[in-house]
Amino acid sequence: MKKFDVAIAGGGVIGGAIALELARAGLSVAVFDRQQPGQEASWASAGIISPAPESPSMIVTVPLAKASVSLYPEFVAQVEEISGKSVGFRPKGTLEALFSHDTKAELSTIIALHHGLGLRAEPLRAEDARELEPALSEEVEAAVLRPDEGSVDNRALTGAILEAAQRSGAEIFSENGAKAIRREGNRCAGLILQNEKVEAKWTIIAAGCFSAMIEGIAPYAPVRPAKGQMAALRADDLKMERVLWSEKIYLVPRNDGRILVGATVEYAGFDNVSSTAGGITKILSAAIELAPGLANARIEETWAGLRPDSPDHLPILGPTDVDGLLLATGHFRSGILLTPITARLVREWITEQRVSVDWDRFSPLRFQAAATDAARHAPA
Ligand SMILES: Cc1cc2nc3c(=O)[nH]c(=O)nc-3n(C[C@H](O)[C@H](O)[C@H](O)COP(=O)(O)OP(=O)(O)OC[C@H]3O[C@@H](n4cnc5c(N)ncnc54)[C@H](O)[C@@H]3O)c2cc1C
Repeated sequence: MKKFDVAIAGGGVIGGAIALELARAGLSVAVFDRQQPGQEASWASAGIISPAPESPSMIVTVPLAKASVSLYPEFVAQVEEISGKSVGFRPKGTLEALFSHDTKAELSTIIALHHGLGLRAEPLRAEDARELEPALSEEVEAAVLRPDEGSVDNRALTGAILEAAQRSGAEIFSENGAKAIRREGNRCAGLILQNEKVEAKWTIIAAGCFSAMIEGIAPYAPVRPAKGQMAALRADDLKMERVLWSEKIYLVPRNDGRILVGATVEYAGFDNVSSTAGGITKILSAAIELAPGLANARIEETWAGLRPDSPDHLPILGPTDVDGLLLATGHFRSGILLTPITARLVREWITEQRVSVDWDRFSPLRFQAAATDAARHAPA
């Protein structure tokens, strides 16, 4: 039987980054993926790095997100150096455009919310916003500049992380997915793969939205897929430096001149992962509303992917009540943002039995507690 210090199920950006951190810490690490690694959500993503919460329920993730943003430059430098590959990191800020007629009130609410969370955000008049980003529509009434945000080319990043992990000593096994965890009493002793078993002191489940399909994992990670449709455009005469947002859409410029447009959020199961006429029409018309010059852009690619969503939309991170079993999934719309901090915290837990950012709120045990509470309060 193959034997490692750490066995990781899932070779997306999360499993790959954890493998890199742990291999660099001197542990023997193996990543098992059911297909070629890096081809799921981590490939389909937009790669925006923004700790600003998308809804009030996401505010609890801000400390984690801020810690990840501050790790990003060092993380990227390390991945690029070890892999020898560029990951298209663009820490150039993001700009949110406001279209409403009551922008004064909206602006002050947004700015106060950000400042209250310790996030930098600057109000901009429409003309100043258009001076920074000439592609913006004439209809924009005001904007918010968030200078600490940015983007990374998630496909390049995932590939480079996997390469760096291998160069640091991690072994990566493709087409060899996990069927179940190997239980020995209250201990997890590794993974049961399609045709073999592996032994490990630590087992980490990082199989994205597929994590609950691994036998023994559903109680800790009741994740489901949230489909997102995207398009890549090319408009040679359009200048765009920063990620642009409106209420409906985001636009993400890449170093190669492409502009990514995204994304829908649909609950359509596991099988329906193709682009649809309705989905692409919706994102392209919102893109043209935000930057009208895109009407003449060429469509270079359309695709869809499955985000790992959890019942409360928060990540699922940390140890379980089975010794040696950890979860790192449920990153939903923020997995690229949260990659450096996820890898850091898992490494700290395994090598130092402590973490530098509180992760209790994201415990994999919270779903069992919720189920027990619901049963206790159910009518007799
Ligand atoms: C359209 C879209 C846009 C997004 N935009 C952003 C963004 O702008 N910013 C951001 O931060 N996040 C964004 N996200 C979210 C982000 O991409 C995800 O949260 C992140 O990629 C999750 O990474 P992961 O490694 O957990 O999962 P995945 O990348 O899905 O990787 C899971 C891996 O596990 C493997 N696997 C599955 N089953 C098994 C098994 N049984 N055994 C072994 N391996 C298995 C899969 O083959 C896959 O390689 C977006 C996602 C989508 C789809």
